[in-house]
Amino acid sequence: MNKPNISESNPAKGKNDSTVYYFEESLHELGKILDFSMDLICSCDEEGNFIWINKASERILGYNPEELIGRKYTNLIVHEDADNLKTENFDFRSATHVPIFEKKFIHKNGNIIYLQWSAVWDDIKKLCYCIGRDVTEKKNKEIAFEIERLRFFNIYSQAPSYMGILSGPGHVYELANELYLQLIGKRDIIGKTVKEVLPELEVQGIFEILDHVYKTGESFSANEMPIKFDRYSNGKLEEVYLNFIFHARRDANGNIDGIFVFGNDVTEQVLSRKKIEESEKMYKDLIHKLPVATYSCDAEGRIVLYNKAAAALWGREAELGKDLWHNSWRINSNKKEQTSALNLCSLATALKQGDPILNKEIIIERPNGDKRNVVPYPVPFYNTDGEITGAVIVLSDITEMKLAQKELRKNEKKYRYLFDNNPMPMWIIDLKSFKFLDVNKMAILQYGYSREEFLSKTALDIRPNDDKIHFIKSSDTSQINKSNYNRGIWNHIKKDGTIVPVEIIAHDIMYEGTAARLILSNDISDRIKAETNLEKRNRELIKTNSELDRFVYSVSHDLRSPLTSILGLISFIETESKETDTLKHAELIRISINHLDDFIKNILSYSRNNRTGLEIEQISLNELIFDVVDSLQRMKEAKGIRYEIDIKEEKPFYTDRLRITTILKNLISNSIKYHKKDKTDRFVKIFGYSDDENLHFSIADNGIGIDPEYHQKIFEMFFRLSGKDGSGIGLYIVKDAVEILQGSIEVQSEKGAGTNFNITLKNLKPC
Ligand code: ADP
Repeated sequence: MNKPNISESNPAKGKNDSTVYYFEESLHELGKILDFSMDLICSCDEEGNFIWINKASERILGYNPEELIGRKYTNLIVHEDADNLKTENFDFRSATHVPIFEKKFIHKNGNIIYLQWSAVWDDIKKLCYCIGRDVTEKKNKEIAFEIERLRFFNIYSQAPSYMGILSGPGHVYELANELYLQLIGKRDIIGKTVKEVLPELEVQGIFEILDHVYKTGESFSANEMPIKFDRYSNGKLEEVYLNFIFHARRDANGNIDGIFVFGNDVTEQVLSRKKIEESEKMYKDLIHKLPVATYSCDAEGRIVLYNKAAAALWGREAELGKDLWHNSWRINSNKKEQTSALNLCSLATALKQGDPILNKEIIIERPNGDKRNVVPYPVPFYNTDGEITGAVIVLSDITEMKLAQKELRKNEKKYRYLFDNNPMPMWIIDLKSFKFLDVNKMAILQYGYSREEFLSKTALDIRPNDDKIHFIKSSDTSQINKSNYNRGIWNHIKKDGTIVPVEIIAHDIMYEGTAARLILSNDISDRIKAETNLEKRNRELIKTNSELDRFVYSVSHDLRSPLTSILGLISFIETESKETDTLKHAELIRISINHLDDFIKNILSYSRNNRTGLEIEQISLNELIFDVVDSLQRMKEAKGIRYEIDIKEEKPFYTDRLRITTILKNLISNSIKYHKKDKTDRFVKIFGYSDDENLHFSIADNGIGIDPEYHQKIFEMFFRLSGKDGSGIGLYIVKDAVEILQGSIEVQSEKGAGTNFNITLKNLKPC
């Protein structure tokens, strides 16, 4: 290997030897030093051939200096760079000091080596001195960085997120990608502050957050934060939901110099999620509020949700996530029904196969043993692929309905029985055509038509012609519907042609879906006959009665006048005769005549009682009673009787004078009459009061009394108890008069203990 021989070109050649030697030694030393240089050091001639090169060539280019000396440096340059060299018209001789330039060289192993050159031209020696520094590593890093930068830029500009960089404490836009611009609805924002571009954020607290991030370096991340932007610069704020991060940017010294903004507009997701949430809530609410037992389940029939009505129907709360039938309550043990129930739980399969089991009745047994008849109505949910994902199931409790149906069937049977076996003829006619729709056994029996004959007729056919029009008129539904019930007398024709009067009870009904009328017919021939007879006898009776009345009246009158004459004659005998016997007999005759006269007067008063009408007037009660008592003093039993009379006339009392006088006269005369002769302190007490409604009074004596067994009898006509002379008609007349005056009478008495009559009479005051 040749040593580099710089001396060959040394300009000091030809000087004396020691100086030369020393000079050469120095050069040799210099050559050594140059060899250790990290940089490539060389000299080239005018053509660019290496004249000298240091040993760094071996490390940098893979060639030792001997391999290179005499070779053109351009041969080591990468082709394209060699061309550049030409175009740059680089000439070693053109300048004394060329600027630093960079060239790509090819290493012996083929790698590209970046060399940064500085060179100087020595015009005297016609040599160029060059130093080349290996900057491959730095260059590679630069390239990698550039690639990285480009990649970031791509990411940044094409990112599906919005991004921006704010610089400085004032948050000036340094960068903003397209999405960011779209988000805020603004352009040309670079160099402006956030405050200038988005003043609407002031009140939304965003600036405080930015300041905080800038000051503290703590990142801020927001999740679905609602932010309002004046997107169309018209003052109308539009709300968007954003996920974003504010992240502090630091310079080479680690000081915060800006903020990275990354984010996503999640408005659509948030809104659609909210919508889903809302509709889910609505659906849940709906289920919860439904008054019918309802639950929702997934495709496997597992319960997701159920309402109170469902829990009430099941008689217990359900365990969510388990299907209805495994939820530990029991289904009716009937095998067929249980299978249906299990099929329902794998709803998807059941629905797909169009399982006829759905909507079929099942029986649920509650924990307390109650059984409920239930019909499930499932409404399936489908996903976009048409697969069933679940269902809402309405459980219709038909237990009561079934019971009612059962009851109805029972009732139907009962009514059918009642209809068929009713002892009265019954039938049903169509309201429009009057056709017989049904007829019972008794109708067939009484009318003589067979069932078939009836069913081929109309209601008109069993009526005489005269009645037909009237029947059509009175069958007017609007009339009947007024009370939905009609009653009337009609004539019907039997099969044998006889016409019978019947009483009809009609009732509008629905019969097998059509408007119909149920008719009940009652043959009233006998009743009419009986009524006619009764009327006839009544008339006769009235006639007989009035005749009798007239008879009694005239007889009584006619009887009294001879009695009066007899009494006159007796008075005459009594004054004329001195004979004791004659006088005694005359006295007996007088007593009998008086007695007979009293009787006739009573009969007359009874007859008047019935014949004459009431004459109502105000009665002064105490006065009337005193008068009556006074008039009775001629009775021989009246001697020695004490009277206590006190009627409190709180309200004026109105009644018929004749009747009340008859009542008082009879009762007081009895009280006088039925006294014990030997008894001391005999009394008659008459107490009472009158108010707006009634007069209440009692007539009490301490006479012989009446045994309770006769208390009812004494009011009967001609009933007498004692041996006294009486006709037994007095109390009968009293009772009659009390009834006419709308009152009542009752007796309280014990034998030997006196008698008390309590009387109430209505105050017949004029209104
Ligand atoms: P008579 O004309 O016999 O009095 P009444 O009809 O007035 O007929 O009375 C029927 C009977 O009731 C009397 O015969 C008498 O025995 C009994 N009687 C009526 N009032 C009294 C009385 N105050 N005390 C006892 N007995 C009485």
